[in-house]
Amino acid sequence: MTTTFGQSTVLGYPRIGANRELKKAVESYWAGRIDAAALADTAATLRAEVWRTLRDARLDAIPSNTFSYYDHVLDTAVAVGAIPDRFTRLGLSELDTYFAMARGVDAEPALELTKWFATNYHYLVPEIGPDTVFTANPTKALAEYAEARDLGVVTRPVLVGPATFLLLAKGHDPFARLDDLVETYARILTALADAGVAWVQLDEPAYVTDRSPEEIAALRRAYTRLGDLTHRPRIFVATYFGDLGDALPALLATPVEAIGVDLVAGPDNVKRLAAAGPLRGRTIVAGLVDGHNIWRTDLRAAVATGAVLAGLADHVAVATSCSLLHVPVDLAAETRLDPRLSERLAFARQKVDEVVALGRALRDGTGQLPPPPPAAPAGWRHDDVRTRLTALRPVDRQRGDYADRVAAQRRRLALPALPTTTIGSFPQTAELRAARAEHRAGRLDDAGYVQRMRAEVAHVVRLQERLGLDVLVHGEPERNDMVQYFAEQLDGCAATEHGWVQSYGSRCVRPPIIYGDVARTAPMTVEWSAYAQSLTDKPVKGMLTGPVTILAWSFVRTDQPLADTADQVALALRDECRDLAAAGIGVIQVDEPALRETLPLRRADQQAYLDWAVAAFRLATSGVADDVQIHTHLCYSEFGEVITAIDALDADVTSIEASRSKMEVLDDLAAIGYRRGVGPGVWDIHSPRVPALDEVVEAVRRAVAAVPADRLWVNPDCGLKTRGYPEVEASLRHLVAAAARVRGD
Ligand code: GLN
Ligand code: ZN
Repeated sequence: MTTTFGQSTVLGYPRIGANRELKKAVESYWAGRIDAAALADTAATLRAEVWRTLRDARLDAIPSNTFSYYDHVLDTAVAVGAIPDRFTRLGLSELDTYFAMARGVDAEPALELTKWFATNYHYLVPEIGPDTVFTANPTKALAEYAEARDLGVVTRPVLVGPATFLLLAKGHDPFARLDDLVETYARILTALADAGVAWVQLDEPAYVTDRSPEEIAALRRAYTRLGDLTHRPRIFVATYFGDLGDALPALLATPVEAIGVDLVAGPDNVKRLAAAGPLRGRTIVAGLVDGHNIWRTDLRAAVATGAVLAGLADHVAVATSCSLLHVPVDLAAETRLDPRLSERLAFARQKVDEVVALGRALRDGTGQLPPPPPAAPAGWRHDDVRTRLTALRPVDRQRGDYADRVAAQRRRLALPALPTTTIGSFPQTAELRAARAEHRAGRLDDAGYVQRMRAEVAHVVRLQERLGLDVLVHGEPERNDMVQYFAEQLDGCAATEHGWVQSYGSRCVRPPIIYGDVARTAPMTVEWSAYAQSLTDKPVKGMLTGPVTILAWSFVRTDQPLADTADQVALALRDECRDLAAAGIGVIQVDEPALRETLPLRRADQQAYLDWAVAAFRLATSGVADDVQIHTHLCYSEFGEVITAIDALDADVTSIEASRSKMEVLDDLAAIGYRRGVGPGVWDIHSPRVPALDEVVEAVRRAVAAVPADRLWVNPDCGLKTRGYPEVEASLRHLVAAAARVRGD
């Protein structure tokens, strides 16, 4: 049995397969097209591929139990028996119970889905109560370990650690259950040791966020208990996404053999380790290769950091900063990228080579390291954009007085009280997707494609007129995705062909890459909006994605501050807003659904982020005259922490997800003195249910009680692209009727 950790490792690897095989298999199983055995076959093939890849790359320490049918937090819930009764009661097979927790069934809603720290991955929130009976169920971890061993690969099973698991859970004071849960982990560790497992990895990323002294003490108690077990594997506690702070000395006070730190997102961890004194008997697993972005590592700088650590600890291993789950599988699949860009990139497969090279260089010197990429091509620089940015003054982020804006907009738009509108997209039908695929494949020419999209715009405008909405949209049929659509048109941005990353369950996204100075070469949306406006006398709302969201859902360059890149995007959007206004568009919505999700994990870093985020939005939106009404839209989150920033955006109207939280956000807005227009969602579009007229009336009445009617808008929670036309028509009919009824028409 090996007891040393090895020289190089990754904290996790993409599990979806190079061609999203897992997505296809899981969705086929859900649709009843394949059975559980066929699904299990595909899964085993994918796991074997990953282990072989890692072994053939000569990675020393290989993880297992990083595969998941849906989500690794859900897997850990199953491993500790935290399956709520409402799912056990369904009497389904183990696999179907698992999918029921993930996706819900008719009778039972799914576990809540939420963001995994500051990434675009979503995990299922465990439900833990005083009555939850924890039971050790190491079956999956043991099976994967045995499966790999049969292939000749010795692995290190990975689980979410007990403290993070409870900190992510919801229920009545779940953290009070830590001691019970730790006993369950103790039984799992014993079972792993019985099977011959030498090392186990327990992930504790929750400790890179602000934690109370009690929570830190609990971490210490948990790992002291697990460390004191006489029969157990060696324990590697992995942390990632930031600075460990006071949790580091707490972990060092426990007998765990290895501690992993993220040196990309948390460079201060080096100082903390140095301050902790000699780390005798410990392995430090140095997260030197960025697992959350796609740039090649500066290997020489990484070796230098590794060498500093080597002077402190008994043993230093090189790792990715976090699981490679967050980057695409293999750069080799990208055949259409500019070679000057691809030579700067590393996807998961390439990052494995980087950790291996770094591990060797730490031991044998830097002689074998590949050369760094050449300097960035001059053409990626836009001096005009840079000159504009340096010339910016505070007034460029400032609109006219709100009272003047309201008056000018009233005169121009002449809207009724409680105006009705939608958030932008209408259903993306199978025909639209087929047309896009035909166009991509070259079977439908540009003119034919534009014609199809225009026909859809005309249809959407007619439908809205028939339904009696007040502010119309063009429906966004031409957009594959609200970020990629803009990235494809902006200089300095590139889209990938196969760069899929798991977002949640079987859902994958393909984030664009922002690699150079961002510049707009031509209007991006004006023709579509102007065409829609030409078809109606009602105002049509132009539709843009805001700078923060464009950054949040892309891989962004790291050679300049995010704030500067955000301002470059904002300038492009500012020009777009002006062109929309010049084309006669009187209402422009700039979506910022990701404003909350990129909020830094530590409070100390949050204000600086919010400052540049708000500044970029205002730069994008303040170049238009007072009579142009600027809307913004936010969703997917609890807004409490960013509510003052929402106010600071200074949009004339803010539409916001509210129906699930029963309009609570209105009280939050009132509490900070927000006094501009607001459209709390009155229809939960995440559900296929058509809300009854009375329900919508009730929601509008609740809103009117919190916000004066002259500032209140009536709209759904979010865009309608994932819904079907029958439910959209029925729901919007109720929405318009509810507004009319409350208005007293
Ligand atoms: N305008 C976008 C839409 O309607 C907004 C989507 C979002 O908030 N995520 O689809
Ligand atoms: Zn939304």
